[in-house]
Amino acid sequence: MKVLIVGAGFSGAVIARELVEAGYRVTVIDRRPHLAGNCHTERDVDTGVMVHVYGPHIFHTDDEEVWAYVNRFSSFQPYVNRVKTTVGGRVYSLPINLHTINQFFGTTLRPDEAREFIESQAVTGNANPRTFEEQGLRFVGPRLYKAFFHGYTKKQWGCHPSELPASILKRLPVRFNYNDNYFFHRFQGMPEQGYTALVAGILDHPNIEVRLNTSFQRAMAADYDHVFYSGPLDGYFDYSEGRLGYRTLDFERFTYDGDYQGCAVMNYGDESVPYTRITEHKHFSPWEQHRGSVCYREYSRACGPDDIPYYPIRLVDEKAMLARYVDKAKGARGVTFVGRLGTYRYLDMDVTIREALDTARGFLDARRGDQPI
Ligand code: FAD
Ligand code: UDP
Repeated sequence: MKVLIVGAGFSGAVIARELVEAGYRVTVIDRRPHLAGNCHTERDVDTGVMVHVYGPHIFHTDDEEVWAYVNRFSSFQPYVNRVKTTVGGRVYSLPINLHTINQFFGTTLRPDEAREFIESQAVTGNANPRTFEEQGLRFVGPRLYKAFFHGYTKKQWGCHPSELPASILKRLPVRFNYNDNYFFHRFQGMPEQGYTALVAGILDHPNIEVRLNTSFQRAMAADYDHVFYSGPLDGYFDYSEGRLGYRTLDFERFTYDGDYQGCAVMNYGDESVPYTRITEHKHFSPWEQHRGSVCYREYSRACGPDDIPYYPIRLVDEKAMLARYVDKAKGARGVTFVGRLGTYRYLDMDVTIREALDTARGFLDARRGDQPI
């Protein structure tokens, strides 16, 4: 049985590995010149810094099997994501925690007092917040909402927060203690040699053939018994229902001789600042020696036909269009749509790997007893 896997990101790599370990031979293609998709990391020649080329990536999960899986292919260094934000000329700690609250309001509140204070600020008119704005106003009140979320979100998503679903903000906690760990998962870390080395390890098997700089064309499918496709869902169907909306990112690179900002990620909440955040990559690998510093100013904008899709927008129009594509995908024989682009969802790396493992196992279960090669 001949299997083609489109995309050498985590989705494609994990499916390829599961299949070859079950006795299959697979071909993996990617149109880019490198492995690891949007998680690609590359050593900067000038400074020796391992750069997260498509934006900052921190591995975090509660899924023990996924954590064991990635640790099988790379050693991990402990890493805790601590994000700061600059708002109105001051620096604050994120996610909103007791330090942020006390800094912002110039108070010395203890946890219970802070909880009571924030609850007194909350706009509680709406018991079941549906939009990002309603959720923000209800959970932190108008002053914190306006300072930390309103402007940033308008820049990030290019629309008013009243048009966005509450679910986007629900990703972030509010803490009434001094814990400033951005994530709340049990396992968190950074692959010691970067994400591309990790994905290369997953794909390092004699029965996996990798072809980079190779774009998928629908005609290729005729040569294979099955295709796993982690490219854009709408692209597979030649955009027949229209283009699913994405945000793309522009990164403005600059170097600095020393420590530019003292942390990996500094957000900028003010709408008047055109970028959303600055990433200083050397802080992702504090165990390494660096000859200088590389920073990326990150700008978000609507994704054009030739841009790299980053964040699926999933507003009302996209959802209707998505439903039409999902119908088409269900009717397509011999192809499985996977990953963040193939299913048009925002997926963290651990969820991507979990879904890829489950997809591969489902495929193998359905063919148990077949001759794999
Ligand atoms: P991708 O990595 O996008 O891989 C798909 C691959 O398919 C690409 O290499 C592409 O070139 C290839 N391809 C597409 N179309 C074709 C075609 N027609 N022919 C051939 N090849 C094709 N997750 C976390 O867990 N932690 C984080 O901190 C984190 N930070 C993020 C920050 C940003 C800015 C973004 C946008 C995402 C972040 N993520 C993070 C999510 C993470 O990037 C995804 O989980 C991951 O990239 C999904 O892997 P994938 O293989 O599904 O998709
Ligand atoms: N957000 C914000 N201000 C911040 C950080 C995040 O308003 O300083 C909002 C923004 O809309 C973002 C969402 O909260 O999309 C979720 O935050 P997360 O850090 O998960 O952002 P993402 O991974 O989407 O970049």
